[in-house]
Amino acid sequence: MIDLLIFFLGASLASFLTAWADRYPQSILYPPSHCMTCRIPLKWWELIPILSFICLFGKCRYCLASIPLASLANEIQGGLIAYAYNQGWLTPSWTLFLFMSLMLSHFDRKSTSFPLCFWLIPHCILTLLQGLQISPYFLVIMLVFAIFPLGMGAGDWAYLASLSLFLPLTDLLLILQLATCLAIIDFLGKKRKGVLPFLPFLHTALLLGWGWQHLPFF
Ligand SMILES: [Zn+2]
Repeated sequence: MIDLLIFFLGASLASFLTAWADRYPQSILYPPSHCMTCRIPLKWWELIPILSFICLFGKCRYCLASIPLASLANEIQGGLIAYAYNQGWLTPSWTLFLFMSLMLSHFDRKSTSFPLCFWLIPHCILTLLQGLQISPYFLVIMLVFAIFPLGMGAGDWAYLASLSLFLPLTDLLLILQLATCLAIIDFLGKKRKGVLPFLPFLHTALLLGWGWQHLPFF
């Protein structure tokens, strides 16, 4: 029962962060939660993560607009992160990083960028908790990419700077390679045009890498 409660707590937090990213730069508090298409306010039970998506068959009750699958995926991930933390599989630092990663990925998917404060504040907290490690090197690369447009976004390097607080360089390179492979598959499959948001692939590669190392069924 406690596990289920923790799972829904994590799913609710992820749902809140997703809604915040969707609304940004507008306030998360006002107007109350509403459908992003028809703007009709949602009933309390329509705010229950995961279950409301299932009950509504993934559509708005009023205008039948599809609720983005990314929101459901974020809620499930948030639940699993909280569950893993409660089981002792994740440290508080990793838990904070994964929620930050989830939110920055959602920002990047939406607008191929993210507001600096949503990275900088958690990054500073994580640096205090983890120590500097090799992150200064990535911060220098991030600054170079911020000044000169060299293809990969400065935000991706900012993300890697945070990840380097946890992982050695060899593991980081593996995550980067796996994310690149996933991005190429997605690019070819969807025949995307324009800028490719790379953070969702880094986030997915990290989760796959973590699962590979820690979960028995991988
Ligand atoms: Zn609607």
